[in-house]
Amino acid sequence: MNEQRYAVFGHPIEHSLSPCIHTLFAEQEGRPIEYDKILVPQNGFAQSLRAFADRGGVGANVTVPFKIEASTLVDEQSNVAARAGAVNTLIRLPDAEDGRIRWSGDNTDGIGLVADIARLDCAIQNRSILIIGAGGAARGVLPSLIDCHPSRIVIVNRTHKKAYDLAKLFGLESFHLDTMDFSADIVINATSASLHQESMKLPKKIFQSAQLAYDMVYAAEDTPFIKEAKAQGVPNTSDGLGMLVEQAAESYRLWRGFTPERKSVLRYMRETIIMRSQKRTT
Ligand code: NAP
Repeated sequence: MNEQRYAVFGHPIEHSLSPCIHTLFAEQEGRPIEYDKILVPQNGFAQSLRAFADRGGVGANVTVPFKIEASTLVDEQSNVAARAGAVNTLIRLPDAEDGRIRWSGDNTDGIGLVADIARLDCAIQNRSILIIGAGGAARGVLPSLIDCHPSRIVIVNRTHKKAYDLAKLFGLESFHLDTMDFSADIVINATSASLHQESMKLPKKIFQSAQLAYDMVYAAEDTPFIKEAKAQGVPNTSDGLGMLVEQAAESYRLWRGFTPERKSVLRYMRETIIMRSQKRTT
C-alpha cells in the first residue's frame, strides 16, 4: 500500500475540485498526498477501483454515478452509509489473509451539508425541511438530516414517484411539486437543475417562511434557485461549495485522523471557481 495515494472516481470527473481541496488539507497537515481524478468508463467502476488498489491506493472519494455501486463493493460500512445505501468515501482495510483487497465505506455528504448549514448559523433541530430532488444527493444526506431531529422533512421531485419511493424508504412525507402547499424553514435544492442554469417551476409559496435556501450545486454566480429565493426575500442563501469542502474534510479525517481547518480552504475554493469562470468568459 502507498500511504499517499488517493483518488476521486466519477464520470464525468474533469470538473472535480477534490484534488485541489485535499492538497490544501495535506499542506495543513504537513504530509504529502497524491490525489488523482479517475474517469471511470460506464460499467467499469469495480475494475477501476481494483486497478487503483493494485497501484497501492489507500483511500478514495466516489462521485456520480457510482456511489450506490460503491456501497455494494465494500466489506463494511458506517451506519450513515448503510442507511443511505450510498458510499462517497472508501477507506482501505488491511488485505484479507488470502490477499483479497478490502474496503470500508462511509458517506460524508450528509455530515458535510449539516456542518455547512451550521456554518450559516441555521439550526436544524425542530425546524421543517423541504428537499427538492430525489436522486443520489437527496438520498445521501437524509440520514444525517434525520439525525439532527428536524420537526418535519418533506420531499418533492419533478418525477413524483421517485420522491414517493425515497420518502417511503425513510418514513418521510412526499408532495407533488405542482400542487404543493407547504413552506419550510429550510429549503434544500438537491437537484442537478442548477448545473445547467435551469430554473425549476417552483410554487412561489415554498419560500414563504424559509429562513435558509440552500442549493447543493455550487457556481461562481448565483444559481437560478438562489436568485429566486433572494427575489422572494429569503434572508439566508447559499450554494453547495461549503458542503463540498466540509464533506471532503470529513473524508480526510476518516483517512488520516487529521481534521483540517475549512474556512481558509472554502475562501480559496470560492476564489478558484470565480477565477475559472472568468477565464471561461474571456
Ligand atoms: P441525480 O441522482 O442524477 O438526481 C438528479 C435530480 O435532479 C433528480 O431528482 C431529478 O429529477 C432532478 N432534476 C434534474 N434536472 C431537473 C430540472 N430541470 N428540474 C427539476 N428537477 C430536475 O443527481 P444527484 O447525485 O442527486 O446530484 C444532484 C446534484 O447535487 C448534482 O448537481 C451534484 O453536483 C450536487 N451535489 C453536490 C454536493 C456538494 O458537496 N455540494 C454533493 C452531492 C451532490 P427527476 O427524478 O425528475 O429526473
